Amino acid sequence: MMYTPDENRYEKMIYTHCGKSGLRLPKISLGFWQNFGYQSDFANMEEMVHTAFDLGINHFDLANNYGNPYNGSAEENFGRILDRGMRPFRDEMCISTKAGYEMWDGPFGDRNGSRKYLIASLDQSLKRMKLDYVDIFYHHVYDPDTPLEETASALDQVVRQGKALYVGISNYNREQTAKMQQLLTELKTPFIINQPSYSMLNRWIEEDGLDDYAFENGIGLAVFSPLSQGFLTDRYLHGIPKDSRIGKGNTWLGDQLSEELVVKLNCLNDIASKRGQTLSEMALAWCLSNKAVTTVLVGASSPEQIRTNTACLKNLDFSEDELAEIRALL
Ligand code: NDP
Repeated sequence: MMYTPDENRYEKMIYTHCGKSGLRLPKISLGFWQNFGYQSDFANMEEMVHTAFDLGINHFDLANNYGNPYNGSAEENFGRILDRGMRPFRDEMCISTKAGYEMWDGPFGDRNGSRKYLIASLDQSLKRMKLDYVDIFYHHVYDPDTPLEETASALDQVVRQGKALYVGISNYNREQTAKMQQLLTELKTPFIINQPSYSMLNRWIEEDGLDDYAFENGIGLAVFSPLSQGFLTDRYLHGIPKDSRIGKGNTWLGDQLSEELVVKLNCLNDIASKRGQTLSEMALAWCLSNKAVTTVLVGASSPEQIRTNTACLKNLDFSEDELAEIRALL
C-alpha cells in the first residue's frame, strides 16, 4: 500500500523539548493500549495512525503487553502498518515501548524489573515491530523486589547496545523517580521521561510532587489516560454508547461511572462549551497547562476522535476564573 503523508503536517502540531533533552515531542501523542489488538479492525487502526501522522502526531506509544488478550499484538499490528508504506518515514517518528507488566509465562516474563526480563522483552518488541531500535524504552512499573540498580543497568545496557536512544520510567512516584535519576545520572544514561497517569479527575502527581520534581530536574512527563479513558469526553454525558469502552464490556470502568460523576462531567462540558471547545479538547488543554507536562498520550477508537483532540491546540490558555470554576468542580 502507498501512503503519502500530508505535506503540511508539521504546521499543525506544536513540539516541545522533553525535559532538558534535545528531543522535541508533539504536544499530542497516540497511544496503542486499546483498539490496536488482533481483535480490532485493522483498516481502522491503520487510518488512525495515518490520521495522526498527517496531523503532526509523530510520537507513538506502545508496550510489550498492549493488544490484550494477545499480548504483543499491538506491536505486531504497528509493524504491519509500518510495512504498508510508513517505513520510509521512520526517522520522522518517535516510537516508544515498555516492559514491566506481565508478558509471558514463568518468573522471567512476570511483572518485574530484572535485566533478564527487560533485555529479552525489548528484543521481542523490536522483532514484532521489525525495527532496529526504539526511540524510548521504558520500565513500565516500579518493582519493589528488584534492586533499582539492576533495572537501571538494564536500561543503560539497551542504550549502549543501540536498541534504544533514550530511556524512561512509568508509574514511578516522585521518590522512586529521584532514586532512578540518581542511578542513571551516574551511569550517564539518557534518561529523559516519566510516564504517569494524569487528568482533571486524577491529580496524584500534583499531590505527590512528581510534576514539580520532573520540571525542576529536567525530566519530561508523558501523561497517560488524560481523558480518563473516555470520561472526559462527550461519550458518557447522556448514557453509555454501545461502541464505547464501557459499552463493549469494560465493567471496571463502568463501575466508576456514578450518577455524581455524570453530573460533574456535564458541568465540565458546559465550561468547555463557553471556551468554544469540546470536553475532550478542554481536558487535554488542561493537562498541557501543567508546565511539567510535555505531551498527552491519547487513546482513540476512530480517526475522528484524533482530529477532535488535536483541535485542543487552538486554545491552550485558561483564565484564572476558568481555572477556579474547574477547581471548584473537581
Ligand atoms: P484516554 O484517557 O485518552 O482515553 C481514550 C479513550 O477516550 C478512547 O479510546 C475513546 O474511548 C475516548 N476518546 C478519545 N478521544 C475522544 C473524543 N474526541 N471523543 C469521544 N471519546 C474520545 O487514554 P487511554 O486510557 O486510552 O490511554 C492512552 C495511552 O496512554 C495508551 O494508549 C497508552 O499508550 C498509555 N497508557 C500507559 C499506561 C502506563 O501504565 N504507562 C497505562 C494506560 C495507558 P472509546 O474507545 O470508548 O471510543
